[in-house]
Amino acid sequence: MNAIHQPHQNTQLTTAKLLINGEFVESQTSNWQDIVNPATQEVVGQVPFATREEVNAAIAAAQNAFISWRQTPIQTRMRIMLKLQDLIRSNAKSIAQVLTAEQGKTLADAEGDIQRGLEVVEHACSIGTLQMGEYIEGVARGVDTYTLQQPLGVCAGITPFNFPAMIPLWMFPMAIVCGNTFVLKPSEQDPLSTMMLVELAVKAGVPAGVLNVVHGGKEVVDMLCTHSDIKAISFVGSTAVGTHVYNLAGQHGKRVQSMMGAKNHVVVMPDANKEQTLNALVGAAFGAAGQRCMALSVAVMVGETKHWVDELVIKTKTLSVNAGHEPNTDVGPVISPRAKARILDLINSGIAQGAEILLDGRDVQVKGYEQGNFVGPTIFNQINTEMRIYKEEIFGPVLAIIHVDTLDEAIALVNANPFGNGVGLFTQSGTTARIFQNSIDIGQVGINIPIPVPVPFFSFTGSRGSKLGDLGPYGKQAVQFYTQTKTITSRWFEDHQEAGSVNTTISLR
Ligand code: NAD
Repeated sequence: MNAIHQPHQNTQLTTAKLLINGEFVESQTSNWQDIVNPATQEVVGQVPFATREEVNAAIAAAQNAFISWRQTPIQTRMRIMLKLQDLIRSNAKSIAQVLTAEQGKTLADAEGDIQRGLEVVEHACSIGTLQMGEYIEGVARGVDTYTLQQPLGVCAGITPFNFPAMIPLWMFPMAIVCGNTFVLKPSEQDPLSTMMLVELAVKAGVPAGVLNVVHGGKEVVDMLCTHSDIKAISFVGSTAVGTHVYNLAGQHGKRVQSMMGAKNHVVVMPDANKEQTLNALVGAAFGAAGQRCMALSVAVMVGETKHWVDELVIKTKTLSVNAGHEPNTDVGPVISPRAKARILDLINSGIAQGAEILLDGRDVQVKGYEQGNFVGPTIFNQINTEMRIYKEEIFGPVLAIIHVDTLDEAIALVNANPFGNGVGLFTQSGTTARIFQNSIDIGQVGINIPIPVPVPFFSFTGSRGSKLGDLGPYGKQAVQFYTQTKTITSRWFEDHQEAGSVNTTISLR
């Protein structure tokens, strides 16, 4: 079991180190939490809840390093990213093993977690063109205007448990390549794979103090949100915590981006390719045991597709529930016994509120892993929008099905849901797809794609209840988020030029 806030005693266990001013150090705290393999309950390491002095030291190191890092040539910063992407690529398999042991997802999906983060590092190698300002000459006689995209200073990142590789890589590479320094606070539930990536960043040449790591929970997060030397906060996690972080850091004058919970729908039209659609629905609902912010939660079956539900259930029954490191596993355990209890409570509420349960994963047994936090794929049919299983984010392998008669009804249903992370449409009609993409009020839309997470040349653009702040992670929006635009209007007088007269107006002359 998790030994929360107990002294760290077992010296055989791996401990998550702090990174302060280029040194990986053991925390001096007396508060430690076990890092537990979700398939076995084996303790795979321990994570400290850093002291106030340690957090202050990390921020001070970042503040000090900013003085020289912001002056470091952009090519030097880029070359560190080039080296980092190479190191991540060559270490991906060993990181994936640690990630699966502490997070539970399948090895193939752990490699995907690393790969999607690696793509952001690859994009960071193009910062020379991404961070360019603009220039126009002759806005008045002899007057030119240009912009600089300057780094902000010390930025901080707070990450969730479900993507311990991808989400830290959404944050610190783009922040530091823009010339900022960074303090990362990984999820306390699975920080070991994140730390392997951080070690690679140091190996790639990130100088002392430019990247720092502190571990902990609410107390550490609140310190980051309120410290006067921190200029910007990137948060990814639940809606409750994300809202708190956005408000607290905002009140302390920081730029904040908060990417939060979701309830993602897929709308299935009768003209969709049935086989491909059903495969996509099953993969998106139950992959990663439903613990993706872009996981499919609600299938909206339009018209005759109501007859596809039986086949959906048959396909889902073929999924193998097992420990993530076992070959051919499709659905691993959920992160913790607490998460499992929350998911079971929601499933029970669905039954109590009258939803038809077509597949019940509550009593799934996994041979050899009887202690694991497993929940089998669960499918509810004929749900309505008043049920808790519709209103709340389940973050587990549970798919709810709603039936409607028309595309318009489906669009109205999705738009009435407060979340806005992702949505999919399955159809063979370009016209239907165009109507849908135009009318749907969700930040990321997949057309015959069930999990439309954009590649890093674009940005992650969840919207409405799934996001606070204007600018999303990675891509051009991240460059804007991690820089301040400075606009310079300049005039250089030539020696022979007439001095002219005093100008008391606002017009440039
Ligand atoms: P979480 O909100 O519990 O934790 C996220 C971070 O906040 C962790 O680092 C944690 O230590 C910290 N934290 C926890 N409680 C806190 C508190 N009271 N005060 C201050 N900080 C606190 O989220 P999680 O369970 O790790 O991750 C799952 C959630 O993240 C889901 O809701 C999921 O939808 C969301 N998520 C969203 C996106 C997105 O891009 N929108 C991506 C991934 C995950």
